[in-house]
Amino acid sequence: MNPSELNHPIFQRISESAAEQGVEAFVIGGFVRDIFLVRPSKDVDIVCTGSGIDLAERVAEKSGRKGKVAVFKNFGTAQLLLPELEIEFVGARKESYRLDSRKPIVEEGTLEDDQNRRDFTINVMALSLQKETFGKLIDPFGGVSDLENRIIRTPLNPDITYSDDPLRMMRAIRFASQLNFNIEAESFESIKRNAYRIEIVSKERIADELNKIILSPIPSRGFNLLFDSGLLKLIFPEMANLYGVEYRNGKGHKDNFYHTLQVLDNLSLNTDDLWLRWSAILHDIAKPATKRFEPQGWTFHGHEDRGAKMVPGIFTRLKLPLNEKMKYVQKLVMLHLRPIVLSKEIVTDSAVRRLLFEAGEEIDDLMMLCEADITSKNEIKVKKYLTNFQIVRQKLKEVEEQDKVRNWQPPVTGEDIMEYFQIQPSRSIGIIKTAIREAILDGKIPNEREPAFQFMIEEARKLGIEK
Ligand code: ATP
Repeated sequence: MNPSELNHPIFQRISESAAEQGVEAFVIGGFVRDIFLVRPSKDVDIVCTGSGIDLAERVAEKSGRKGKVAVFKNFGTAQLLLPELEIEFVGARKESYRLDSRKPIVEEGTLEDDQNRRDFTINVMALSLQKETFGKLIDPFGGVSDLENRIIRTPLNPDITYSDDPLRMMRAIRFASQLNFNIEAESFESIKRNAYRIEIVSKERIADELNKIILSPIPSRGFNLLFDSGLLKLIFPEMANLYGVEYRNGKGHKDNFYHTLQVLDNLSLNTDDLWLRWSAILHDIAKPATKRFEPQGWTFHGHEDRGAKMVPGIFTRLKLPLNEKMKYVQKLVMLHLRPIVLSKEIVTDSAVRRLLFEAGEEIDDLMMLCEADITSKNEIKVKKYLTNFQIVRQKLKEVEEQDKVRNWQPPVTGEDIMEYFQIQPSRSIGIIKTAIREAILDGKIPNEREPAFQFMIEEARKLGIEK
């Protein structure tokens, strides 16, 4: 290891402070791994023999940051924040586990104990901060060679590692997906055997790892591993249910699990947005629930509506946020067929105007999702769809320039109506407002105040309201 990787002056200060306190200190874990992977990282973990909190305080003092250490007594850890690095200090520890919890019993230990308790060989490597051996790599389990061979492997017996803390199964799959690594065969078999243990892991931690998998470059890698290991049906059964093809009278439908993964991968080429990726995962989630065999073949009528309705339940169970992010996903699931329908028919202005009105700010994301949804193997079909999509996009642009319905605000409001006719709030006002909106969306009147006002007067007259 080239010590120059530790060229930030803080590492010298940690080294000196440790020597003054008569303890040994090491950089360990993700930061060391990321040096080898040439991935920029700002989270530094320091492990020392003795008290991590005492070491952190001395380092802070030396750095003119006395009193700037955040101490977490319960965990025996301390954190020092620098503008470029976040450094966490902890005493080397030995851990033992009980069957019903992923929280270990912790005792003081040696560097070796500390390395033994870590999850993967690539996360075990440490760099010495002792003066004589500064920067020397301590890699007892062949982490460097596993990095070179792109392998995820546990340092000790995988059955013990995964059963002790089943979150590590999610982490293994997450690293494989993020880094495009393979999980060693024996380790993967062990994940299959221990999958059921995931029940002792909190939903929040599972969601964190799941979101990291979703954000990886080719998310299908992670999802295939989740599915093949049996974890997916335990943590997210609705998605696992998409798997499979049913045949009747010799007619099959497509496998919606692999289709969903392909849509997700397609979309991921164009966006890093977590929630847009979630909408790809959920766009066909109600297909199993709406599947029917009809004379013309398999149908999934209403799966977009039903899918949108399933979103809150899924978000609640997975502990995902129940805020505007969820509403956004719901909206995309609900509307995901609309541009496709448009691209199959002759595109009328009013159909485009309605789509713009309903999708609002989300129109570009919706179009991206729909393009990703074209996964047919028939090249002629794909070409035809994509060309039609271009026409829809062009129409969207024209209609938006002309009518500005993307963020539609009614040109005549309820207050306007009440004031003009001098009437109190009533059902009629709603009826008039809806009539104005429909007339604009149908292109009967332009999206402007004057014509809308005239239209209001006519509609009111039909209801027997006059000034
Ligand atoms: P990332 O920063 O991408 O989330 P990371 O592994 O570098 O990944 P942390 O999750 O903060 O970041 O973990 C830091 C180190 O702690 C890891 O490199 C690993 O050595 C160890 N570690 C973390 N979680 C576990 C676990 N559940 N079991 C064993 N060791 C773990």
